[in-house]
Amino acid sequence: MMNFAIISKGDEVSARLEKRIKTYLLDFDLIWDEKNPDIVISIGGDGTLLHAFHHYIHRVDRTAFVGVHTGHLGFYADWTPEEVEKLVIHIAKTPFQIIEYPLLEVTVRYLDDRMESKYLAMNECTVKSVEGSLVMDVEIKGEHFETFRGDGLCLATPSGSTAYNKALGGAIIHPSLPSIQLAEMASINNRVFRTVGSPLVLPQHHTCLLNPVNDVDFHITIDHLFLLHEKVKSIQCRVAEEKVRFARFRPFPFWKRVKESFV
Ligand code: NAP
Repeated sequence: MMNFAIISKGDEVSARLEKRIKTYLLDFDLIWDEKNPDIVISIGGDGTLLHAFHHYIHRVDRTAFVGVHTGHLGFYADWTPEEVEKLVIHIAKTPFQIIEYPLLEVTVRYLDDRMESKYLAMNECTVKSVEGSLVMDVEIKGEHFETFRGDGLCLATPSGSTAYNKALGGAIIHPSLPSIQLAEMASINNRVFRTVGSPLVLPQHHTCLLNPVNDVDFHITIDHLFLLHEKVKSIQCRVAEEKVRFARFRPFPFWKRVKESFV
C-alpha cells in the first residue's frame, strides 16, 4: 500500500486542488501519511517543490516527488491542474518509473571547534559576504585555482542550472550528468584580481573548496534557505551521493521543458 502526502503553495487554487487530489487518492485506498510518505505531490511551482524536498530531506532515498503547477510550467512541477484526474489514476493504478537527479552536497567547516554543517541543495548554494566584496580562494580537486573577488559565487546542480545559475550566464546542464556548476557573480577583474570568468562544470568527485581569505561572515543560501555563518574556515561543494527522486508517469524531455519555459 502506498503512503502519500501533499505540499501546497497555500494559495486558493492550490488549496482547492490539494483537497481534490487528497479525496481522489483516499478513494483509491492510498494512505495519507505526512510523516513517512512514499510519494509527495507538490502543488504550486518549482519553489513549492523546493520546499517539499527540504521538508522530506531526512527520507530523500525513500520519497518520490511529483509536481503540479498552478502557475506557469515548471521544471519540477510539470503537471497541469487539468491533468490531475489522469495523474491520480497513474499514482494509484500504475507502477511508476523513478528518475533521479543529482544533488549538491555542501559542507561548511568552522575556524573554532564547532561541528561541521552539512546540507543538500536541489538547485544551488550561493555564497556572499555580509559586508563588502567576497574574497575567496577557490580550490578544485585539491589545487588552488583562483582567488575570486566580487559579489558572490553560485554552485548549481544540473536541475538547478535553469534557475539562479542561468541568470548568472551559466550553461543549462542535462540532469543525467552528475555534475556541479560554479558561476561567478560580478567578479572584479583587473591587474590585481583575476578569475577565469567562465562558468565551470565539475564532474563527480571533483570537489570545489572555497577558502575565505579573511575572517568575515557569510550569507550562504541553500535553495530558498538563507543562512548566516560566522567564523567559516571552508565551504566544500561536490556532487552528493544522495539523489532526489521523481515519479515519472510520462516522458517530458528536459529540452522540451527548457524550450517551453525559455524559448
Ligand atoms: P523566488 O525568488 O520566489 O522564485 C524564484 C523563481 O525561480 C521562481 O519563478 C521559481 O519558479 C523559479 N525556479 C525555481 N527553481 C527553478 C529551476 N530549477 N529551474 C527554473 N526555475 C526555477 O524563490 P523561491 O521560490 O524560494 O526559489 C528559490 C530559488 O530562487 C533559488 O533556488 C534560486 O535558484 C532562485 N533565485 C533566482 C535568482 C535569479 O534568477 N536572479 C535570484 C535568487 C534566487 P516557480 O515560480 O515555479 O516557483
